[in-house]
Amino acid sequence: MSQNDAWMQRDLAVLWHPCTQMKDHESLPMIPIRRAEGVWLEDFDGKRYLDAVSSWWVNVFGHANPRINARIKEQVDQLEHVILAGFSHQPVIELSERLVAMTPAGLDRVFYADNGSSCIEVALKMSFHYWLNRGQPGKRRFVTLTNSYHGETVAAMSVGDVALFTDTYRPLLLDTIKVPSPDCFLRPDGVSWEEHSRTLFAAMEQTLAEHHQEVAAVIVEPLIQGAGGMRMYHPVYLKLLREACDRYGVHLIHDEIAVGFGRTGTMFACEQAGIRPDFLCLSKALTGGYLPLAACLTTDDVYQAFYDDYSTLRAFLHSHSYTGNPLACAAALATLDIFESDRVIEANRALAARMGQATAHLADHPNVGEVRQTGMALAIEMVRDKPSRAGYPWQERRGLKVYQHALERGALLRPLGSVVYFLPPYTITPEQIDFLAEVASEGIDLATRDSLSVAVAVDLHPGFRDPG
Ligand SMILES: *Cc1c(COP(=O)(O)O)cnc(C)c1O
Repeated sequence: MSQNDAWMQRDLAVLWHPCTQMKDHESLPMIPIRRAEGVWLEDFDGKRYLDAVSSWWVNVFGHANPRINARIKEQVDQLEHVILAGFSHQPVIELSERLVAMTPAGLDRVFYADNGSSCIEVALKMSFHYWLNRGQPGKRRFVTLTNSYHGETVAAMSVGDVALFTDTYRPLLLDTIKVPSPDCFLRPDGVSWEEHSRTLFAAMEQTLAEHHQEVAAVIVEPLIQGAGGMRMYHPVYLKLLREACDRYGVHLIHDEIAVGFGRTGTMFACEQAGIRPDFLCLSKALTGGYLPLAACLTTDDVYQAFYDDYSTLRAFLHSHSYTGNPLACAAALATLDIFESDRVIEANRALAARMGQATAHLADHPNVGEVRQTGMALAIEMVRDKPSRAGYPWQERRGLKVYQHALERGALLRPLGSVVYFLPPYTITPEQIDFLAEVASEGIDLATRDSLSVAVAVDLHPGFRDPG
C-alpha cells in the first residue's frame, strides 16, 4: 500500500472533513500532505502540487516562509497566549497600530476574533448594538447582495446568499434584505463594467430609501464575490454605496476577508473606490496563511457609542477564547513586514499581467463564457452556451473534471462550480503561472466535452453551484 493510501485509510476512519460529502471519498482519493514549501504541497508518496488556491485563499508568501517561521518561533518562546480581557501583549498592540495606520483614515479601533465568520458576527452585532446604544433599536436588519458569501456561522450565513447551502438552514436565519448583485458577468453585450455596476445600484438606492429606518448596515464583499464564483464588479458601486449609506444613516460593512491584503491589486479593495467603510473585516491572508486570526476595524464614532459607565450596560461583551493570539499576531506582523520590505503590491502588477496574458486565449474557447480578472484573482467561467452565457447544470459537476486533471498534472485547482480560478501565493513565478494556465486549458477542454460522464464523484463546494 502506498503511504498516501495508508494515511487516507486512517483519516477516513476518524475524520469528518469540511465542505465535503464524505461518501465521495469512496471514489475520490484524499490527499495527505506531508510537507509544503513555497507554492508546492507534497504528499506522502512524494508527489507535488502547485497550490493555485493558496490553501483556501489564506497563503500569500508561500508555505514554510523562512521570515514568518522565524517570527513565530521567536514568539513561542516568549508568550504563546494570554487572555485579552484585562491583559495585553506586544504583538497585538503593534499589529493594531499597524492595521490602523495602513487602512483608510478613520478606522481607528481594532477588535479581534479568531476566524472570518466570527469577525462577521462581530461587525453585525456591533452595528446593531451601536444603533441600540444611540437610541434606535428599530435598526436591526441587514442589507446584503445576492450571491454573497460571508461565512458559515448562523448570522454570517444569514447575510450570505448561496441557495443550495443556506436553504437547508433557512428556518434558523435572520431576516435580511437581498439586493441584486452588481456582478458584471451578467451585463448585457456592449455594456462596460462601470455602466453595469452603476445601473444595478438603482436597486440598492431604492431599498435604502424604503427601508433605512429598520436597517443597521449594508454588508458587501468589495469588488469580488469570492465563494459565489469569483464574480466581479466595478468600484463605482462601492462609491455610490458609501454616499447612500451616509445619506440614509446606515453602516457600511466591508467584508475584505478574502480580498484584503492585495488580492484585488491594492492592499485593500476599498482603496479603489476611495472610501472608508464603517467596519472593515480582515482575516485569511492577515497571518500570511499560518494561523487563524481576524480583525474588525471600526471608527471612533462606533467606539464612543459603547464607551460609558459600566452600569449603563453599553459595553460590547463579546469574546473568543483565542482573541488576539500572540502567535497569530506575530505571524501577521511578519506578513506585514514582507508586504512593506518587498514592495509586494507593486511587484504583483507584473504577475497579474502574466496571469491575464497566459489565459487570454481561453476567452475564445467555445465553452468559456468569460475570463475575468481583478488584480491577483483570475477566473475562467465555463458555460454550456457561449452566446447566452447559460451555465451547466450544477449536477454535472464539470469543475470536478478540472480538479481531477489538475491533480494528475501536479496542481491544486479547486473550481467553484463551473468557475476555474487562480488565487495563488504572491511568491508564484511567471513560469509557474504559465504552467497553471496550461493545466487549466487542458482541464477545461476535458470538462466541456459533451460526452463527459456526469456521474462523477465529489461536489467540490456543495454550496457554490453555478448560476445556470
Ligand atoms: C472565507 C470567507 C469568510 C469566512 O471566513 P472563515 O475564516 O472561513 O470563517 C467570510 N467572508 C468571506 C468573503 C470569505 O471569503
